[in-house]
Amino acid sequence: MSKGTKTQKEATRLAHAGREPARQHGFVNTPIYRGSTVLFPTVARLEANAQDFTYGRMGTPTVKALEEAIAELEGGYRTLLTPSGLSAIATALFAFVSAGDEILVADTVYRPNRRFCDNVLKRLGVTTIYYDPLIGAGIKSLITKKTRVVFAESPGSQTFEVQDVPAIVKAAHAAGAVVILDNTWATPLYFKPFAHGVDVSIQAATKYIVGHADAMLGAITATEEASRAVEKAHEDLGLCPGPEDVYLGLRGLRSLGVRLERHQRSGLEMAHWLAGRPEVARVLHPALPSDPGHALWKRDFTGASGLFSIILKPCTQGAVAAMLDGLTLFGMGYSWGGFESLILPFDPADYRTTTTWQAEGPALRLHIGLEDVEDLKTDLEAGFARLGARA
Ligand SMILES: *Cc1c(COP(=O)(O)O)cnc(C)c1O
Repeated sequence: MSKGTKTQKEATRLAHAGREPARQHGFVNTPIYRGSTVLFPTVARLEANAQDFTYGRMGTPTVKALEEAIAELEGGYRTLLTPSGLSAIATALFAFVSAGDEILVADTVYRPNRRFCDNVLKRLGVTTIYYDPLIGAGIKSLITKKTRVVFAESPGSQTFEVQDVPAIVKAAHAAGAVVILDNTWATPLYFKPFAHGVDVSIQAATKYIVGHADAMLGAITATEEASRAVEKAHEDLGLCPGPEDVYLGLRGLRSLGVRLERHQRSGLEMAHWLAGRPEVARVLHPALPSDPGHALWKRDFTGASGLFSIILKPCTQGAVAAMLDGLTLFGMGYSWGGFESLILPFDPADYRTTTTWQAEGPALRLHIGLEDVEDLKTDLEAGFARLGARA
């Protein structure tokens, strides 16, 4: 359970949340507990299941430390860890649906989220309806008696549309539906899901919480009311992340604040610079005043992370390949949120079903890491020169 002092500032909470040195012989960090079996001293204790830890799958002091810290930072009642961000999403959805139910899912959610809906939930008799992320209060028109869950992700994966989460929450709650939000982009620091009425918040902790591209981890945080269903689904599915990965999550969390400040600053500088490049048609970054989602972002968020996209002016795929293949600092690969810069070509038209993707040219997603921005500009500048030579 979250027990942080409400008056503490965020930087203080990041340093202290989930830690109990007195219970670890004074050591500052909760160590990696490895274990399956936990011993009970008496039959009475065994039968009452009356101790903090009962079995490795049900949690260890290391798991508890990270769960308490994330719950406190997100502002929720209880957090449960899972082995990946996708398993956190799947567990949260699974917790609330039964055969015959409908769920509403933003068309811009993380693509593998759709796999779970279109493959697993469909097979279990649950219907997924994808909605336009800009629908806002209009979501009311899609809600029926069968709607159990509204799933939001703001800003949306790859294209960064900002959703009107409070308006969606209001309509969903009026109909008795639960709102689940994928809060990975903003992290618990830059968007407070529970202050905006969300019932369940998902973190792909793999990204900014771990922060060093060296572990897979997910977190589900819920209100007191929603946490009962989430706890049950989590136990029913038998999910438990590896102790090493949980420790890396705790370790990453301690520096999340300073890392994000840099990701934000460098990301914005790169976004402004890219907006001024002749090869770039548009920059999709909600913290830019020109972005269509800027007003909502400013109203609801307290910061921006280092992930955004650009739309190039019309050019050939060969020109894009020439640009990307020669980059030396920007790596090409999935995931993001680590210390290093990444770039990835994408085409949402491949899989979105409710919205129509209209762009001037090819799209690239960038993660701005902790490198020096001038070096990053030099790398992209050389890339643009290769693109120009082939366009
Ligand atoms: C990466 C990602 C996930 C999934 O996390 P994994 O740890 O890779 O399973 C979920 N949501 C968003 C927004 C992501 O970017």
